[in-house]
Amino acid sequence: MKKPIILFVIDGLGDRPISSLGGKTPLEAATTPNLDKLAAQSRLGLIQVCDHPKDGYTSSESGHLSLFGYPREEFPGRGVLEALGLEIPIKDGALYFRANFATLKDGLVVDRRVGRISENTTSLSQVITLKKDEYQFNVFSGVEHRAVLEIIGPHLSPKITTNDSKEENVPPLEVKPEEDNEDSKNTAKLLNQYLNQVSQILEKQPLNQARETIGLAKANYLLVRGASVGMKVQSFGEKYNLKAVAVAGGKLYRGIATYLGMTLLPVMGATGDHQTNLQSKFEAASSAFKNYDFVFLHIKAVDEFGHDGKCLEKKEFIEKIDQFLPSLGSLENAVVAITSDHATPCELKTHTSDPVPLLILDSVKSLANQRFTEKDCQKGTLGLIRGLDLMPLLLKLSKVKLSKG
Ligand code: ZN
Ligand code: ZN
Repeated sequence: MKKPIILFVIDGLGDRPISSLGGKTPLEAATTPNLDKLAAQSRLGLIQVCDHPKDGYTSSESGHLSLFGYPREEFPGRGVLEALGLEIPIKDGALYFRANFATLKDGLVVDRRVGRISENTTSLSQVITLKKDEYQFNVFSGVEHRAVLEIIGPHLSPKITTNDSKEENVPPLEVKPEEDNEDSKNTAKLLNQYLNQVSQILEKQPLNQARETIGLAKANYLLVRGASVGMKVQSFGEKYNLKAVAVAGGKLYRGIATYLGMTLLPVMGATGDHQTNLQSKFEAASSAFKNYDFVFLHIKAVDEFGHDGKCLEKKEFIEKIDQFLPSLGSLENAVVAITSDHATPCELKTHTSDPVPLLILDSVKSLANQRFTEKDCQKGTLGLIRGLDLMPLLLKLSKVKLSKG
């Protein structure tokens, strides 16, 4: 009989030594008695999640798809995954983008996330959902600053560049064709015109005027990236002959799970940010063991603190995860892997392709006095593995016969 597998991904967990944490990483500096107990019974190692991180930047979607064993050719692109996460049905030939509401001031992008805007942005999405000649532009609001842009019409191509430089206090980039063909050129031109129009429309919205009167930044621009069209891949369940379920609050991760055909478990209070209800997520994952062979559990907030350069908050959130870890229940008869999709070092405020810590619990025997940290994982017996090697390893371990009782 197969042991159920739980893959717990703590987004952006990996980090580098930080002077204000006494030269420790947030994971090393955190007080984590429950993770320590688990680490003492587990094998540790590091994962080089992506084989070809583009310019050193490892995205969450490519990180996850690698961990799930899908090679690069099977990545549909961020836009489609975000759209699936918002439960938008993917239409043939339509183009999807991950979008950020952003703040444009004097021609510069001064805040890429409008301070992670707390108001619902639906009223903004509605006014920039419009028809222009034969093209329909649909905008769907996600959590905080996040949104999805869908473009429906003829002669569209995902082969275009982004307007998001990923930097602040610089002008937005002009969208350019990536291929020398009419569809690519047409899409770039169309998008540049639309984005210009968007900033004019958003500027005057009541929500923005209200924000301005209380000194808050306006959500008056849209940054778009991850242009993609729908594609089909073999489902995770078919690929591995596993009944798989996902426990995730973040829309992208729900989108990835949907793309791979995993069941999505509804979890009360799973928000995909630091306000998420960790206890109910762990309890949901725990009860899913009874009915599924594979549980994908995702926690997002650690990555966000990394992006915001908040190392103390990152450390504290890791401690919070540790505190609720016992809600996962008995892990004796399961294969448990805890890892991350990429590092988000606080001092860099962005993703890096640094190898990330990996813990695998597959037997209950006391090993060395080791902790789940970047340093101890580097010395771990699993060594350094590739992202694509993780699933084969977990499958091998899960076929071990169940112990009695
Ligand atoms: Zn990530
Ligand atoms: Zn991130």
